[in-house]
Amino acid sequence: MDVLRIATAGSVDDGKSTLIGRLLYDTKSLTKDKLEAITITSKRKGLDFTDLSLLTDGLMAEREQGITIDVAHIYFSTPHRKYIISDTPGHVEYTRNMITGASTADVSVVLIDARHGIIEQTRRHLFISSLLRIEAVFVCVNKMDLVDFDEAVFLNIKDELKSLAKKIGYTGELHFIPLVAKDGDNVVTIPERMNWYKGSSLLQHLEELPIRSKEKILPLRFPVQYVIRPHDEEHPDFRGYAGQLKTGTLHKGEKIVVLPTLKESIIKSVHLAEKQVEKAFAGESIVVEFEDDVDVSRGSMIVDAASAYHQVTSFTATLSWMDEQSLTVGKSFFLQHNVNRVKAKLVELQKVLDIKTMEEKTNVDELHLNDIGKVFIKTAKPVFVDTYQSNPHNGSFILIDEFTNNTVAVGVIESF
Ligand code: GDP
Repeated sequence: MDVLRIATAGSVDDGKSTLIGRLLYDTKSLTKDKLEAITITSKRKGLDFTDLSLLTDGLMAEREQGITIDVAHIYFSTPHRKYIISDTPGHVEYTRNMITGASTADVSVVLIDARHGIIEQTRRHLFISSLLRIEAVFVCVNKMDLVDFDEAVFLNIKDELKSLAKKIGYTGELHFIPLVAKDGDNVVTIPERMNWYKGSSLLQHLEELPIRSKEKILPLRFPVQYVIRPHDEEHPDFRGYAGQLKTGTLHKGEKIVVLPTLKESIIKSVHLAEKQVEKAFAGESIVVEFEDDVDVSRGSMIVDAASAYHQVTSFTATLSWMDEQSLTVGKSFFLQHNVNRVKAKLVELQKVLDIKTMEEKTNVDELHLNDIGKVFIKTAKPVFVDTYQSNPHNGSFILIDEFTNNTVAVGVIESF
């Protein structure tokens, strides 16, 4: 069955939890127990409706206390396809999580409170969706009941957002849907109250969207996480390389190249969960053996000998800066790309995005907390990257402060 991955974004109280709860409820993805539990809690709180936002509240509470969850995954399905929602918190300081959530998504759902219209977070979400080349953005204008179901409010937001999208050069599909998440209007069903809206409900849109399989055309990228040499009696000569296959496929007999040494070899065997397989696919954690004894270590990248691959020591990237302390030219970091951690230096700050006007400014001295900018970076050792556009799974990285060990930026590689 098809799987569609959705990233949701909105600011606090826009109704994101309610919308997700509504989707689960209306697609009958809720267990009886869960439904009973939230019905009882809603009554106890004195509400005259079942508050569907309570469904995801457990996750939110956990997140607010700073426990583990950065991106929560919520699953539901229809007879037609399966859905995975990556729900990221709406606060501005969670831009990194938004990027994590959106980087694997096919579509994003951006929620706007009809009363407040487009706010800074909306622009940020739109920009990130564009940066990460999300194929379709569904802009849901929620709480239409609180603006008397006024079509003009909806149209104003639509016009403004369309021109912002044009300004930043977003090339994917853009859809607009007026919602009352609380009552379910246009989430799954289309009631009469907004009969000026002639489009589809959010779920109809999601059901009809063609899923373009990105994985099939991507080249082999297998970063080595561990070198396995047991040296025991049973396996005296075994030398295997373990890791997760990032993109592409890998098969027995395939001619490969190891980066950075450029040594060639042939795949002798592929092991998946203790079994030998002919072929492995992206996302699988595998161990491979080579025909020859070539030098491979943690952080090496195995690629297909017949297609293009890169090892670079400088590139242009778009960065989302996440540290209180501003970023200036000359600063050094650790750059983490897959399992590889290398020293890196910011050589040039080229542009910063003005989130209010969505215009890029040159002549930049600093990137402040939550700024998004274009930069030029040099690394002390080669990294085995692709541009985000050509291979999203191998085209992003994080920057780590050398002294505090904090993650201070996420970046997307634009060119090298
Ligand atoms: P979140 O912080 O974005 O997850 O927002 P919630 O889903 O928790 O919703 C915030 C508040 O808005 C709750 O009290 C909801 O009941 C309410 N709410 C959500 N959607 C609607 C809507 O369409 N109309 C109205 N009037 N209230 C809504």
